Amino acid sequence: MDFELTSGQHALRQKIADFCARECPPEFETSLDEGGAFPEDLYRKMADSGFLKISFPAEYGGTDGNILDIVLISEQLARNSYTAVYMYLVNVVFAGTMILNCGNEAQKKAFIPKLLKGDLKFAFALTEPEAGSDARSIKSSAVDRGDHFLITGTKYWTSGATVADYIITVVLTGPETAASREMSVFIVPTKSEGLKATPIRKLAGNAYPSCEVRYENVPVAKENILGGPEWLNNGLLQLFQTAEYERICIAASCLGGAETILRECTEFAKTRQQFGKPVIKFQAIQHTLADMATRIEAMRWMTYHAAWMKAESKDCFKEICMAKLFCSETLGDIARKGMQIFGGRGYSMEHRMQRYLRESYLSLYAGGTSEIQKNVIARFL
Ligand SMILES: Cc1cc2nc3c(=O)[nH]c(=O)nc-3n(C[C@H](O)[C@H](O)[C@H](O)COP(=O)(O)OP(=O)(O)OC[C@H]3O[C@@H](n4cnc5c(N)ncnc54)[C@H](O)[C@@H]3O)c2cc1C
Repeated sequence: MDFELTSGQHALRQKIADFCARECPPEFETSLDEGGAFPEDLYRKMADSGFLKISFPAEYGGTDGNILDIVLISEQLARNSYTAVYMYLVNVVFAGTMILNCGNEAQKKAFIPKLLKGDLKFAFALTEPEAGSDARSIKSSAVDRGDHFLITGTKYWTSGATVADYIITVVLTGPETAASREMSVFIVPTKSEGLKATPIRKLAGNAYPSCEVRYENVPVAKENILGGPEWLNNGLLQLFQTAEYERICIAASCLGGAETILRECTEFAKTRQQFGKPVIKFQAIQHTLADMATRIEAMRWMTYHAAWMKAESKDCFKEICMAKLFCSETLGDIARKGMQIFGGRGYSMEHRMQRYLRESYLSLYAGGTSEIQKNVIARFL
């Protein structure tokens, strides 16, 4: 096993760090958190800087690379901007990889180059008001009307729906009574007649809206079935193929978030004076920081190791779920410890620590809850 980053990967990390320092420093994220609108301009700059293209094949406008590259990008963006990393995850890691892995040639050619240039944005709609962890219990459906399908139903928590051009939508397409719950995935234009998206107020990240999306007899062409008509009723298989990318990059985003909390806590502890000395001189604070640093090291190696396994085409779903579970839970623990190190200032809206704590919660649900990761891991034991 060789986990040494290549010189290209070191350069990539530095490039994204420089980009973030310039375009989305912490103050910018704070302004978004305080009621800022969707940062269209930031997304455009992310695309123009070329890093949406990384890890996609050159024939679709990418610059090649592998899964470790998107892991490094997710980690680096999350160090700086929760909004930037979630825009990246939804568009590039979820939608982009799903179209790349499951789309037919015409769909890859039509969507991926524009997505990588930032000319098209996507959202992904699986969850419904009554169907979360139990994806098979979705009720939204599509009925065949000859040359097109009509989609009816309600999706919930569809991130980026109000700013996207297309929503990759999972619906039932088999007979309503069938126990198999046959599903299909449609690429639905958001401008379609009968589609309405409404943002849900969230604990954090409101600049990138997560939405309720209502579909009332929304017409979708048959060529917009992901993979083409031959993939009708095989949507569940397509979801499984994307879950690994989604979960490993969420793990990486937690790693990036935790690194920032440790850095800011260390800086704070070195400057905050009590009892005549910086609080970092107290062993209790030193131990908390040492504990954070040790757990971050474990997050890093679990994430990189799982990404390396994926890049080597090894079976790694268990390791990816372990990394996602460990990193999302640990980020929450580290954010709570950060609040303690900051004392009362952690509770103040003048400081960022409370924002990091609020942001940390999303990773516990996105890509499946901790309980669902444990269910998967247990199946391998
Ligand atoms: C901010 C945000 C953005 C999101 N973005 C998207 C998006 O873009 N697209 C999308 O499709 N979805 C999105 N989601 C939805 C997310 O994937 C779901 O929240 C997640 O799958 C959990 O579903 P649920 O919230 O309905 O919880 P539920 O499934 O109702 O779970 C409730 C509780 O029961 C537990 N539980 C459920 N089943 C089991 C079981 N079998 N064993 C043990 N425990 C169990 C859960 O772990 C949880 O603790 C988003 C969610 C949030 C909060």
